[in-house]
Amino acid sequence: MTTSFELGQDHIDLRDWVHAFAADVIRPVAAEWDEKEEFPWPVLEEAAKIGIYSLDFWATQALEETGLGIPIAMEELFWGDAGIGLSIVGTTLAAAAVRANGTDQQVGEWAPQMFGSPGDLKLAAFCSSEPDAGSDVGAMRTRATYDEATDEWVLQGTKTWATNGGLADVHVVIAVVDPELRTRGQASFVVPPDTKGLSQGQKFLKHGIRASHTAEVVLDQVRIPGRCLLGGKDRLDERLAGAREGSSGRGQPSMATFERTRPGVGAQAIGIARAAYEIALDYAKTREQFGKPIIENQAIAFMLADMATSIEASRLLVWRAAWMARQGKTFDQAEGSMSKLVAGETAVRVTERAMQILGGNGFTREYPVERMARDAKIYTIFEGTSEIQRLVIARAISGAPIR
Ligand SMILES: Cc1cc2nc3c(=O)[nH]c(=O)nc-3n(C[C@H](O)[C@H](O)[C@H](O)COP(=O)(O)OP(=O)(O)OC[C@H]3O[C@@H](n4cnc5c(N)ncnc54)[C@H](O)[C@@H]3O)c2cc1C
Repeated sequence: MTTSFELGQDHIDLRDWVHAFAADVIRPVAAEWDEKEEFPWPVLEEAAKIGIYSLDFWATQALEETGLGIPIAMEELFWGDAGIGLSIVGTTLAAAAVRANGTDQQVGEWAPQMFGSPGDLKLAAFCSSEPDAGSDVGAMRTRATYDEATDEWVLQGTKTWATNGGLADVHVVIAVVDPELRTRGQASFVVPPDTKGLSQGQKFLKHGIRASHTAEVVLDQVRIPGRCLLGGKDRLDERLAGAREGSSGRGQPSMATFERTRPGVGAQAIGIARAAYEIALDYAKTREQFGKPIIENQAIAFMLADMATSIEASRLLVWRAAWMARQGKTFDQAEGSMSKLVAGETAVRVTERAMQILGGNGFTREYPVERMARDAKIYTIFEGTSEIQRLVIARAISGAPIR
């Protein structure tokens, strides 16, 4: 048996191909879309044309045997820009929810409708969070009621902070079927395109990742066919019966999605950190004060050494978790959460230090590290805050009921 930390040629080709798109197409317009704070449709169209925004590309990476395809692609895209990067990959979170909770037939029906094709782009959104249910997923209020007479589900409630929310063609919505069972009484539903009763509420203006669209999604008596319940009714009934009898289960739909997506989210954070680090390194070599490049001061050089080291360490955690997920290994020590926690906090620290190294220039919008620092902050908040990652890790390593 051989062990290797070297990337194979396929991975190198993937990395270089996505990197070229990030450098040539995303980077040059990153500041413009950040300022406009609008969804970057033309960039998405370019990404679709070359196949980076497509079901085929993401399905290939998801099925790739090492699990590294997604983190490699994510890191390069987000190296280009995080707001545009999230606009390109936002759909994949909803697609991952269908894959985690749906049947093969449901994946086959909905995944193509989430991406569309060049010239006819489609988007998808994943809607779990609510105004009173962010970290506390069990406090969710959106209700799903089954209408046996018509074999339809009726969704009622308000979702918030949904990436692509309201703009999307397909929405994946988590809703409560049995409130007494808290998280175990929830299920995931697909709301097909043009369904009556679903509308966009407030669009949020944000601190960072401003090209990405984040909005409320209002569900007012939304009626969807029975086949839109992910996993199907028999599986849901079985799961609910088990929960009522008190058997342990890992069936909570939001968690099933997040477990799969956390290493990929960590890779996005690494892309931002690496971008800021590279700019800071170049700047430190050329900026002279007191008659020498500022990098010749240990204070600056050591900051850069720490930045480089923490980026490498984060990547190893992310790649390990992605590999484990692909091999079907369970995250006994919450390895997915570990990877997202470390990568997210690294992105915040590295971008802040990059600003420090650039001095006054770092604080202005003349240089991109200011935007990168704003973008990095979301990585300690979404897909589970840093505190929630620590909670998950603490419970996993101790088995104790830590609150
Ligand atoms: C730009 C953006 C995009 C998003 N995209 C999506 C999306 O596509 N789909 C979706 O469903 N959601 C999305 N979200 C929502 C995101 O996942 C939530 O904001 C996040 O889970 C945190 O929830 P909250 O904002 O309600 O914070 P809260 O849960 O209210 O937390 C507030 C603070 O309290 C801390 N805290 C809470 N509970 C505990 C505890 N038990 N122990 C210690 N500390 C605790 C938190 O860590 C945090 O610091 C997005 C959010 C943003 C801002």
